[in-house]
Amino acid sequence: MAAMSTASPPAVLVTGGAGYIGAHTAKALHEQGFLPVVFDDLSSGSRGSVRWGPLIEGDLRDRGALTEALATHRVSAVIHFAGLIEVGRSTAKPDLFWEVNVGGTINLLTAMREQGVGRLVFSSSAAVYGQGGRGPLEAIVETADKAPASPYGDTKLAAERMISAQCRAYGLTAVALRYFNAAGADPSGLIGEAHEPETHLIPLAIAAALGDGKPLTIFGQDFDTPDGTCLRDYVHVTDLAAAHLAALTVELPAGAFEAVNVGSGEGRSVSQVVEAVGRAVGAAVPHGVGPRRAGDPPSLVADPRRGRELLGWTPRHSSLDEIVADALRWERSPAYGAGRRDPANRRKSSAPA
Ligand code: UDP
Repeated sequence: MAAMSTASPPAVLVTGGAGYIGAHTAKALHEQGFLPVVFDDLSSGSRGSVRWGPLIEGDLRDRGALTEALATHRVSAVIHFAGLIEVGRSTAKPDLFWEVNVGGTINLLTAMREQGVGRLVFSSSAAVYGQGGRGPLEAIVETADKAPASPYGDTKLAAERMISAQCRAYGLTAVALRYFNAAGADPSGLIGEAHEPETHLIPLAIAAALGDGKPLTIFGQDFDTPDGTCLRDYVHVTDLAAAHLAALTVELPAGAFEAVNVGSGEGRSVSQVVEAVGRAVGAAVPHGVGPRRAGDPPSLVADPRRGRELLGWTPRHSSLDEIVADALRWERSPAYGAGRRDPANRRKSSAPA
């Protein structure tokens, strides 16, 4: 499928398109000649992030609303981000996570089948792997053991498996993208990451360096890694958005299901992030060292070869310095401040995508 310069651009339904990665993908769709039709309940996304197409306020559990959205906008493909993402909350409310993330995906698949929409990109996560049977510092290939460490990871894996079965049964064509650490922001300063409360390393380190937040606590310096702090694979959110476009447009046979890591393949340590933020801000990040955070594995780094081979995708903006520079621009932008002042955007907790 390719966007062409016709009077009406092909419509792509973007569930969760008011959220962090969804909004960046909606912008990329617009830039590539698609119309992003956002379907979002605004429970955690922000209205101000929907700038490149219509917004339908709706809940995934309402199949009728999904069907209507697909029919009204003559949608030709779906990118499915909507869902609950807070790992800690998933442990407290597993039933809710299954209802929204798995039940909601069943609704979407049913609505797509009824409306004859045969193409899907699904927002999955490195959380499907857990620690599994791999070595502590081993890069993760897509075929690695799946051993989710939380109900959140369970729901992503279950949704992937259901989508894959649906592909075999009904000829749906789908790509599941397993994100590593999404970070950075669009260089325009219009959209970016804004969780309340914030738990992610890069925004917290920036806030600490700017004097807007508490000193950062490094969660453990006694891991078996080169500098003792955890290694993660940070991917610029605009690179992530580009991966969605590639997954949407790659030629695949009807009925194909593919799962692809979206990571840079480079592990960066917490200490390296702290140094990069200090360089960008021009002031050291005030920090201390605390105990390990429960459930944090020493290393989560993608083997990125499949994305290159299947999608022709490689990250272009994922150096730590570029990620941090764009995150800093966003945290200094008026849009960031406005989003945080809007009580509708407050979240009880947040965690990785
Ligand atoms: N981290 C930290 N202090 C913080 C927040 C995070 O040391 O205040 C570490 C965390 O232990 C992990 C890395 O930073 O090793 C990235 O954490 P984040 O929550 O940003 O993403 P996650 O890896 O959990 O998806």
